[in-house]
Amino acid sequence: AATYDVVIVGGGSAGIACAASLLKRQADLSIAIIEPSDVHYYQPGWTLVGAGVFQPRATRRAMAEVMPRKARWIRQAVRAFQPDSNSVTLADGTAIAYHALVVAPGLKLDWGAIPGLSETIGRNGVTSNYRYDLAPYTHELVRKMAQGRALFTQPPMPIKCAGAPQKAMYLSCHDWEQRGLLEGIEVEFHSAGPVLFGVADYVPALMTYIERYGIDFRPGSKLVGVDGDARIARFEQGGDGEKTVVERPFDMLHVVPPQVAPDFVAASPIADESGFVAVDPATLRHPIWPNLFALGDVIAASNAKTAAAARKQAPVVAVNVIAALDGKNPVAGYDGYGSCPLTVERGRIVLAEFGYGGKLLPSFPNWLLDGRKPTRLAWFLKDRMLPPIYWHGMLKGREWLAGPSPIGQTP
Ligand code: FAD
Repeated sequence: AATYDVVIVGGGSAGIACAASLLKRQADLSIAIIEPSDVHYYQPGWTLVGAGVFQPRATRRAMAEVMPRKARWIRQAVRAFQPDSNSVTLADGTAIAYHALVVAPGLKLDWGAIPGLSETIGRNGVTSNYRYDLAPYTHELVRKMAQGRALFTQPPMPIKCAGAPQKAMYLSCHDWEQRGLLEGIEVEFHSAGPVLFGVADYVPALMTYIERYGIDFRPGSKLVGVDGDARIARFEQGGDGEKTVVERPFDMLHVVPPQVAPDFVAASPIADESGFVAVDPATLRHPIWPNLFALGDVIAASNAKTAAAARKQAPVVAVNVIAALDGKNPVAGYDGYGSCPLTVERGRIVLAEFGYGGKLLPSFPNWLLDGRKPTRLAWFLKDRMLPPIYWHGMLKGREWLAGPSPIGQTP
Protein backbone atom coordinates (compact mmCIF):
# COMPACT_ATOMS: atom_id res chain seq x y z
CA ALA A 1 0.00 0.00 0.00
CA ALA A 2 0.99 3.61 -0.57
CA THR A 3 2.76 5.65 2.08
CA TYR A 4 1.22 9.09 2.53
CA ASP A 5 3.41 12.12 3.12
CA VAL A 6 1.06 13.10 5.95
CA VAL A 7 -1.68 11.18 7.73
CA ILE A 8 -4.08 13.23 9.87
CA VAL A 9 -6.18 11.51 12.53
CA GLY A 10 -9.48 13.38 12.96
CA GLY A 11 -11.38 15.74 10.66
CA GLY A 12 -12.61 18.14 13.34
CA SER A 13 -11.68 21.79 13.74
CA ALA A 14 -7.99 21.03 14.25
CA GLY A 15 -7.53 18.26 11.68
CA ILE A 16 -9.24 20.07 8.78
CA ALA A 17 -7.52 23.39 9.57
CA CYS A 18 -4.14 21.69 9.63
CA ALA A 19 -4.76 19.81 6.36
CA ALA A 20 -5.83 23.05 4.66
CA SER A 21 -2.80 24.86 6.02
CA LEU A 22 -0.44 22.13 4.79
CA LEU A 23 -1.97 22.16 1.29
CA LYS A 24 -1.82 25.98 1.11
CA ARG A 25 1.90 25.73 1.74
CA GLN A 26 2.63 22.70 -0.42
CA ALA A 27 -0.16 21.70 -2.79
CA ASP A 28 1.49 18.47 -3.97
CA LEU A 29 1.63 16.77 -0.56
CA SER A 30 -0.19 13.45 -0.38
CA ILE A 31 -2.45 13.74 2.65
CA ALA A 32 -4.95 11.27 4.11
CA ILE A 33 -7.47 12.38 6.72
CA ILE A 34 -8.87 9.51 8.77
CA GLU A 35 -12.30 10.49 10.09
CA PRO A 36 -15.29 8.19 10.76
CA SER A 37 -18.03 10.83 11.05
CA ASP A 38 -19.92 12.16 8.03
CA VAL A 39 -20.79 15.37 9.90
CA HIS A 40 -18.46 18.21 10.94
CA TYR A 41 -19.61 20.43 13.81
CA TYR A 42 -18.88 24.04 14.69
CA GLN A 43 -19.17 23.42 18.43
CA PRO A 44 -18.56 27.04 19.52
CA GLY A 45 -21.99 27.77 18.04
CA TRP A 46 -23.76 25.45 20.47
CA THR A 47 -23.72 28.04 23.25
CA LEU A 48 -25.80 30.29 21.01
CA VAL A 49 -28.06 27.40 19.98
CA GLY A 50 -28.74 26.82 23.69
CA ALA A 51 -29.75 30.49 23.92
CA GLY A 52 -31.98 30.36 20.85
CA VAL A 53 -29.73 32.74 18.88
CA PHE A 54 -28.40 30.25 16.29
CA GLN A 55 -30.33 27.54 14.49
CA PRO A 56 -28.75 24.12 15.12
CA ARG A 57 -28.20 23.52 11.39
CA ALA A 58 -25.91 26.59 11.21
CA THR A 59 -23.41 24.64 13.34
CA ARG A 60 -23.06 21.57 11.11
CA ARG A 61 -21.82 20.73 7.62
CA ALA A 62 -21.44 17.51 5.73
CA MET A 63 -17.89 16.24 6.31
CA ALA A 64 -17.50 15.91 2.52
CA GLU A 65 -18.01 19.67 2.23
CA VAL A 66 -15.19 20.64 4.62
CA MET A 67 -12.65 18.03 3.44
CA PRO A 68 -9.95 19.75 1.37
CA ARG A 69 -10.36 18.53 -2.20
CA LYS A 70 -6.72 17.51 -2.51
CA ALA A 71 -6.81 15.33 0.61
CA ARG A 72 -7.91 11.70 0.62
CA TRP A 73 -10.69 11.02 3.15
CA ILE A 74 -10.48 7.60 4.79
CA ARG A 75 -13.88 7.14 6.39
CA GLN A 76 -12.98 5.05 9.42
CA ALA A 77 -11.80 5.37 12.99
CA VAL A 78 -8.19 4.87 13.99
CA ARG A 79 -7.77 2.08 16.53
CA ALA A 80 -4.05 2.08 17.33
CA PHE A 81 -0.74 3.85 16.76
CA GLN A 82 2.53 2.16 15.76
CA PRO A 83 4.91 5.12 15.81
CA ASP A 84 7.99 2.89 15.57
CA SER A 85 6.85 1.57 12.20
CA ASN A 86 5.25 4.85 11.04
CA SER A 87 1.75 3.49 10.72
CA VAL A 88 -1.71 3.59 12.28
CA THR A 89 -4.29 0.80 12.38
CA LEU A 90 -7.89 1.41 11.35
CA ALA A 91 -10.98 -0.11 12.94
CA ASP A 92 -11.12 -2.75 10.19
CA GLY A 93 -7.49 -3.73 10.83
CA THR A 94 -5.94 -2.04 7.79
CA ALA A 95 -2.58 -0.35 8.42
CA ILE A 96 -1.96 3.11 6.93
CA ALA A 97 1.66 4.22 6.54
CA TYR A 98 2.97 7.78 6.72
CA HIS A 99 6.11 9.90 6.64
CA ALA A 100 4.60 12.36 9.16
CA LEU A 101 1.62 11.91 11.47
CA VAL A 102 -0.73 14.60 12.82
CA VAL A 103 -2.96 13.50 15.70
CA ALA A 104 -6.20 15.49 16.16
CA PRO A 105 -9.14 13.34 17.32
CA GLY A 106 -10.34 15.78 20.00
CA LEU A 107 -11.35 14.60 23.47
CA LYS A 108 -13.96 12.24 24.89
CA LEU A 109 -17.04 13.51 26.73
CA ASP A 110 -17.35 11.04 29.60
CA TRP A 111 -21.12 11.03 30.17
CA GLY A 112 -20.89 7.54 31.68
CA ALA A 113 -18.73 8.77 34.56
CA ILE A 114 -21.77 10.31 36.28
CA PRO A 115 -24.15 7.58 37.50
CA GLY A 116 -27.71 8.18 36.31
CA LEU A 117 -26.79 10.89 33.81
CA SER A 118 -26.98 8.93 30.54
CA GLU A 119 -30.39 7.52 31.52
CA THR A 120 -31.96 10.94 31.98
CA ILE A 121 -30.12 13.41 29.77
CA GLY A 122 -32.51 15.01 27.30
CA ARG A 123 -35.49 14.43 29.66
CA ASN A 124 -36.61 15.45 33.15
CA GLY A 125 -35.16 18.93 32.79
CA VAL A 126 -31.60 17.61 32.32
CA THR A 127 -29.71 19.13 29.39
CA SER A 128 -26.27 20.07 28.04
CA ASN A 129 -24.96 22.47 25.41
CA TYR A 130 -22.10 19.99 24.93
CA ARG A 131 -24.22 17.91 22.52
CA TYR A 132 -25.61 19.05 19.17
CA ASP A 133 -28.94 17.32 19.74
CA LEU A 134 -29.36 18.68 23.29
CA ALA A 135 -28.47 22.37 22.93
CA PRO A 136 -31.99 23.16 21.60
CA TYR A 137 -33.42 21.45 24.72
CA THR A 138 -31.54 23.97 26.88
CA HIS A 139 -33.39 26.77 25.14
CA GLU A 140 -36.71 24.94 25.45
CA LEU A 141 -36.21 24.45 29.21
CA VAL A 142 -35.26 28.10 29.75
CA ARG A 143 -38.32 29.29 27.85
CA LYS A 144 -40.66 26.98 29.76
CA MET A 145 -39.31 27.62 33.23
CA ALA A 146 -41.22 30.24 35.22
CA GLN A 147 -40.03 29.44 38.74
CA GLY A 148 -38.01 26.88 40.70
CA ARG A 149 -34.35 25.92 40.88
CA ALA A 150 -31.85 25.76 38.04
CA LEU A 151 -28.46 24.10 38.56
CA PHE A 152 -25.43 24.57 36.29
CA THR A 153 -22.38 22.33 36.68
CA GLN A 154 -18.71 22.38 35.72
CA PRO A 155 -16.49 19.27 35.99
CA PRO A 156 -12.76 19.20 36.90
CA MET A 157 -10.32 20.61 34.33
CA PRO A 158 -9.30 20.06 31.64
CA ILE A 159 -12.46 20.67 29.60
CA LYS A 160 -12.97 22.18 26.19
CA CYS A 161 -13.99 25.82 26.32
CA ALA A 162 -13.71 26.21 30.09
CA GLY A 163 -16.09 29.19 29.97
CA ALA A 164 -18.95 27.31 28.32
CA PRO A 165 -20.56 26.06 31.57
CA GLN A 166 -20.93 29.69 32.70
CA LYS A 167 -21.98 30.95 29.28
CA ALA A 168 -25.04 28.69 29.37
CA MET A 169 -25.88 29.98 32.84
CA TYR A 170 -25.53 33.71 32.12
CA LEU A 171 -27.57 33.53 28.92
CA SER A 172 -30.32 31.59 30.72
CA CYS A 173 -30.35 34.12 33.57
CA HIS A 174 -30.49 37.01 31.13
CA ASP A 175 -33.49 35.46 29.40
CA TRP A 176 -35.31 35.08 32.75
CA GLU A 177 -34.31 38.60 33.78
CA GLN A 178 -35.68 40.07 30.55
CA ARG A 179 -39.01 38.34 31.10
CA GLY A 180 -39.20 39.39 34.77
CA LEU A 181 -38.87 35.81 36.04
CA LEU A 182 -35.40 35.80 37.56
CA GLU A 183 -36.62 36.79 41.04
CA GLY A 184 -38.56 33.55 41.26
CA ILE A 185 -35.76 31.30 40.02
CA GLU A 186 -32.95 30.10 42.27
CA VAL A 187 -29.74 29.65 40.29
CA GLU A 188 -26.74 27.69 41.55
CA PHE A 189 -23.35 27.24 39.87
CA HIS A 190 -21.60 24.10 41.07
CA SER A 191 -17.99 24.00 39.89
CA ALA A 192 -15.52 21.26 40.77
CA GLY A 193 -12.75 23.86 40.65
CA PRO A 194 -11.79 26.47 43.23
CA VAL A 195 -12.26 29.66 41.16
CA LEU A 196 -14.83 31.20 38.83
CA PHE A 197 -12.36 31.42 35.91
CA GLY A 198 -8.76 30.29 35.65
CA VAL A 199 -7.33 33.66 34.51
CA ALA A 200 -7.80 36.23 37.28
CA ASP A 201 -8.05 39.28 34.98
CA TYR A 202 -11.50 38.20 33.81
CA VAL A 203 -12.97 37.33 37.21
CA PRO A 204 -14.09 40.84 38.32
CA ALA A 205 -16.29 41.32 35.24
CA LEU A 206 -17.77 37.85 35.67
CA MET A 207 -18.41 38.46 39.38
CA THR A 208 -20.60 41.46 38.58
CA TYR A 209 -22.86 39.11 36.62
CA ILE A 210 -22.87 36.50 39.39
CA GLU A 211 -24.15 39.28 41.67
CA ARG A 212 -26.52 40.86 39.18
CA TYR A 213 -28.26 37.54 38.47
CA GLY A 214 -28.18 36.50 42.14
CA ILE A 215 -26.29 33.29 41.37
CA ASP A 216 -25.26 31.09 44.29
CA PHE A 217 -21.69 30.16 43.26
CA ARG A 218 -20.45 26.98 44.91
CA PRO A 219 -16.77 26.29 44.17
CA GLY A 220 -15.41 22.83 44.99
CA SER A 221 -18.75 21.17 44.32
CA LYS A 222 -18.53 18.27 41.87
CA LEU A 223 -21.50 16.54 40.24
CA VAL A 224 -21.34 12.82 41.10
CA GLY A 225 -24.85 11.54 40.42
CA VAL A 226 -28.25 12.36 38.93
CA ASP A 227 -31.64 10.90 39.73
CA GLY A 228 -33.67 12.19 36.81
CA ASP A 229 -37.10 10.91 37.82
CA ALA A 230 -36.78 12.38 41.33
CA ARG A 231 -35.05 15.48 39.90
CA ILE A 232 -32.19 15.32 42.37
CA ALA A 233 -28.51 16.00 41.65
CA ARG A 234 -25.71 14.82 43.95
CA PHE A 235 -22.57 16.86 44.54
CA GLU A 236 -19.36 15.89 46.29
CA GLN A 237 -18.05 18.76 48.38
CA GLY A 238 -15.16 19.41 50.72
CA GLY A 239 -11.39 19.46 50.33
CA ASP A 240 -8.81 16.72 50.79
CA GLY A 241 -10.06 15.84 54.23
CA GLU A 242 -13.71 15.03 54.66
CA LYS A 243 -15.88 14.71 51.59
CA THR A 244 -19.62 15.00 51.90
CA VAL A 245 -22.30 14.33 49.33
CA VAL A 246 -24.97 17.01 49.11
CA GLU A 247 -28.31 16.48 47.35
CA ARG A 248 -29.91 19.34 45.47
CA PRO A 249 -33.41 19.07 44.01
CA PHE A 250 -33.78 20.85 40.65
CA ASP A 251 -36.28 21.87 38.01
CA MET A 252 -33.57 22.36 35.40
CA LEU A 253 -30.03 20.91 35.35
CA HIS A 254 -27.42 21.97 32.79
CA VAL A 255 -24.57 19.47 32.89
CA VAL A 256 -21.08 19.76 31.47
CA PRO A 257 -19.67 16.20 31.46
CA PRO A 258 -16.19 15.19 32.66
CA GLN A 259 -13.71 15.17 29.77
CA VAL A 260 -10.87 12.77 29.14
CA ALA A 261 -8.54 11.70 26.33
CA PRO A 262 -10.06 9.33 23.74
CA ASP A 263 -9.56 5.70 24.86
CA PHE A 264 -7.45 4.67 21.86
CA VAL A 265 -5.09 7.60 22.55
CA ALA A 266 -4.85 7.06 26.31
CA ALA A 267 -4.01 3.38 25.73
CA SER A 268 -1.28 4.18 23.18
CA PRO A 269 2.45 4.82 23.50
CA ILE A 270 2.06 8.44 22.34
CA ALA A 271 0.10 9.51 25.45
CA ASP A 272 1.62 10.92 28.62
CA GLU A 273 0.39 9.98 32.10
CA SER A 274 -2.71 12.21 31.68
CA GLY A 275 -3.83 10.13 28.69
CA PHE A 276 -3.51 13.08 26.31
CA VAL A 277 -0.81 13.20 23.60
CA ALA A 278 2.60 14.31 24.86
CA VAL A 279 3.91 17.31 22.88
CA ASP A 280 6.46 20.05 23.21
CA PRO A 281 4.20 22.98 24.17
CA ALA A 282 5.80 25.31 21.60
CA THR A 283 6.52 23.12 18.56
CA LEU A 284 3.64 20.65 19.16
CA ARG A 285 6.02 17.83 18.26
CA HIS A 286 6.09 14.58 20.21
CA PRO A 287 9.10 14.30 22.55
CA ILE A 288 10.01 10.81 21.29
CA TRP A 289 9.00 10.56 17.61
CA PRO A 290 10.24 13.55 15.56
CA ASN A 291 7.73 12.99 12.73
CA LEU A 292 4.70 12.92 15.06
CA PHE A 293 2.71 16.07 15.86
CA ALA A 294 -0.59 16.73 17.61
CA LEU A 295 -3.00 19.65 17.95
CA GLY A 296 -6.48 20.50 19.16
CA ASP A 297 -8.19 19.22 22.27
CA VAL A 298 -6.13 16.01 22.36
CA ILE A 299 -2.79 17.56 23.37
CA ALA A 300 -1.37 17.40 26.87
CA ALA A 301 -0.57 21.13 27.04
CA SER A 302 -1.87 23.75 29.43
CA ASN A 303 -3.54 26.01 26.84
CA ALA A 304 -7.32 26.57 26.84
CA LYS A 305 -8.83 23.78 24.72
CA THR A 306 -10.69 25.85 22.12
CA ALA A 307 -11.23 26.08 18.37
CA ALA A 308 -9.42 29.42 18.65
CA ALA A 309 -6.38 27.54 19.93
CA ALA A 310 -6.59 25.08 17.05
CA ARG A 311 -6.73 28.03 14.62
CA LYS A 312 -3.33 29.21 15.89
CA GLN A 313 -1.87 25.73 16.23
CA ALA A 314 -2.73 24.59 12.67
CA PRO A 315 -0.16 26.72 10.82
CA VAL A 316 2.48 25.98 13.47
CA VAL A 317 2.04 22.24 12.96
CA ALA A 318 1.86 22.66 9.17
CA VAL A 319 5.18 24.52 9.03
CA ASN A 320 6.86 22.07 11.40
CA VAL A 321 5.53 19.00 9.55
CA ILE A 322 6.92 20.33 6.28
CA ALA A 323 10.26 20.91 8.00
CA ALA A 324 10.16 17.36 9.40
CA LEU A 325 9.48 15.92 5.92
CA ASP A 326 12.67 17.70 4.83
CA GLY A 327 14.55 16.16 7.75
CA LYS A 328 14.77 19.52 9.50
CA ASN A 329 14.00 20.68 13.04
CA PRO A 330 10.77 22.55 13.88
CA VAL A 331 10.84 26.25 13.03
CA ALA A 332 7.46 27.57 14.21
CA GLY A 333 6.24 28.02 17.80
CA TYR A 334 2.84 28.21 19.49
CA ASP A 335 2.40 30.61 22.43
CA GLY A 336 -0.55 28.83 24.03
CA TYR A 337 -3.16 31.22 22.61
CA GLY A 338 -6.75 30.29 23.29
CA SER A 339 -9.91 32.32 23.40
CA CYS A 340 -13.11 32.04 25.32
CA PRO A 341 -15.90 34.49 24.50
CA LEU A 342 -17.90 34.60 27.75
CA THR A 343 -21.48 35.44 26.83
CA VAL A 344 -22.46 37.31 29.99
CA GLU A 345 -25.72 38.61 28.53
CA ARG A 346 -27.43 38.53 25.16
CA GLY A 347 -25.58 41.26 23.27
CA ARG A 348 -22.41 41.47 25.40
CA ILE A 349 -19.31 39.33 25.80
CA VAL A 350 -16.25 39.27 28.05
CA LEU A 351 -13.65 38.15 25.49
CA ALA A 352 -10.97 36.16 27.30
CA GLU A 353 -7.84 35.72 25.15
CA PHE A 354 -4.74 34.32 26.80
CA GLY A 355 -1.77 32.03 26.33
CA TYR A 356 0.47 29.79 28.43
CA GLY A 357 0.69 30.85 32.06
CA GLY A 358 -2.47 32.97 31.77
CA LYS A 359 -0.63 35.68 29.83
CA LEU A 360 -3.16 38.00 28.18
CA LEU A 361 -2.89 37.88 24.38
CA PRO A 362 -5.54 40.30 23.09
CA SER A 363 -6.19 40.37 19.34
CA PHE A 364 -7.32 43.98 19.48
CA PRO A 365 -5.87 47.17 20.96
CA ASN A 366 -7.44 48.06 24.31
CA TRP A 367 -9.10 51.25 23.06
CA LEU A 368 -11.02 49.22 20.50
CA LEU A 369 -11.89 46.17 22.58
CA ASP A 370 -10.92 45.57 26.20
CA GLY A 371 -11.55 41.85 26.72
CA ARG A 372 -11.77 42.28 30.49
CA LYS A 373 -15.01 44.22 30.13
CA PRO A 374 -18.32 43.15 28.61
CA THR A 375 -18.60 44.68 25.13
CA ARG A 376 -21.07 44.73 22.26
CA LEU A 377 -18.22 44.51 19.77
CA ALA A 378 -17.13 41.14 21.17
CA TRP A 379 -20.72 39.87 20.84
CA PHE A 380 -20.81 41.05 17.23
CA LEU A 381 -17.56 39.16 16.67
CA LYS A 382 -18.93 35.91 18.08
CA ASP A 383 -22.39 36.24 16.53
CA ARG A 384 -21.48 37.51 13.06
CA MET A 385 -17.75 37.31 12.36
CA LEU A 386 -16.37 34.12 13.90
CA PRO A 387 -18.64 31.63 12.09
CA PRO A 388 -17.62 32.84 8.60
CA ILE A 389 -13.99 33.15 9.75
CA TYR A 390 -14.24 29.50 10.83
CA TRP A 391 -15.87 28.06 7.68
CA HIS A 392 -14.15 30.24 5.07
CA GLY A 393 -10.89 31.14 6.79
CA MET A 394 -9.68 28.57 9.29
CA LEU A 395 -10.97 25.48 7.48
CA LYS A 396 -9.60 26.72 4.13
CA GLY A 397 -6.08 27.51 5.28
CA ARG A 398 -6.57 31.28 5.03
CA GLU A 399 -4.65 32.59 8.00
CA TRP A 400 -5.43 36.31 8.10
CA LEU A 401 -4.88 36.71 11.80
CA ALA A 402 -2.92 33.61 12.63
CA GLY A 403 0.29 33.29 10.66
CA PRO A 404 2.86 31.08 12.41
CA SER A 405 5.60 32.77 14.45
CA PRO A 406 9.15 31.55 15.00
CA ILE A 407 9.72 29.54 18.16
CA GLY A 408 9.76 31.68 21.29
CA GLN A 409 8.27 34.77 19.65
CA THR A 410 4.83 36.20 20.18
CA PRO A 411 3.33 38.17 17.30
P1 FAD B 1 -13.19 18.16 17.44
O1 FAD B 1 -13.57 19.38 16.68
O2 FAD B 1 -14.07 17.65 18.49
O3 FAD B 1 -12.94 17.04 16.33
C1 FAD B 1 -12.45 15.75 16.61
C2 FAD B 1 -12.70 14.87 15.38
O4 FAD B 1 -11.98 13.64 15.53
C3 FAD B 1 -14.17 14.52 15.20
O5 FAD B 1 -14.58 14.82 13.88
C4 FAD B 1 -14.21 13.02 15.49
O6 FAD B 1 -15.21 12.35 14.74
C5 FAD B 1 -12.81 12.59 15.10
N1 FAD B 1 -12.40 11.33 15.76
C6 FAD B 1 -12.71 10.91 17.01
N2 FAD B 1 -12.19 9.70 17.24
C7 FAD B 1 -11.51 9.34 16.11
C8 FAD B 1 -10.77 8.18 15.74
N3 FAD B 1 -10.63 7.13 16.56
N4 FAD B 1 -10.22 8.15 14.50
C9 FAD B 1 -10.36 9.21 13.66
N5 FAD B 1 -11.07 10.32 13.96
C10 FAD B 1 -11.64 10.37 15.18
N6 FAD B 1 -13.98 26.94 21.12
C11 FAD B 1 -13.76 28.25 20.86
O7 FAD B 1 -12.73 28.58 20.28
N7 FAD B 1 -14.64 29.22 21.21
C12 FAD B 1 -15.82 28.92 21.81
O8 FAD B 1 -16.61 29.81 22.10
C13 FAD B 1 -16.11 27.55 22.09
N8 FAD B 1 -17.28 27.20 22.68
C14 FAD B 1 -17.57 25.87 22.84
C15 FAD B 1 -18.81 25.55 23.36
C16 FAD B 1 -19.19 24.22 23.49
C17 FAD B 1 -20.55 23.89 24.06
C18 FAD B 1 -18.28 23.19 23.09
C19 FAD B 1 -18.69 21.75 23.20
C20 FAD B 1 -17.05 23.52 22.61
C21 FAD B 1 -16.66 24.86 22.47
N9 FAD B 1 -15.41 25.23 21.96
C22 FAD B 1 -15.14 26.56 21.72
C23 FAD B 1 -14.33 24.22 21.82
C24 FAD B 1 -14.07 23.73 20.40
O9 FAD B 1 -15.25 23.26 19.82
C25 FAD B 1 -13.02 22.63 20.43
O10 FAD B 1 -11.91 23.07 21.16
C26 FAD B 1 -12.57 22.24 19.02
O11 FAD B 1 -13.65 21.68 18.32
C27 FAD B 1 -11.39 21.27 19.07
O12 FAD B 1 -11.08 20.78 17.81
P2 FAD B 1 -10.55 19.28 17.63
O13 FAD B 1 -10.38 19.11 16.16
O14 FAD B 1 -9.43 19.03 18.54
O15 FAD B 1 -11.75 18.35 18.13
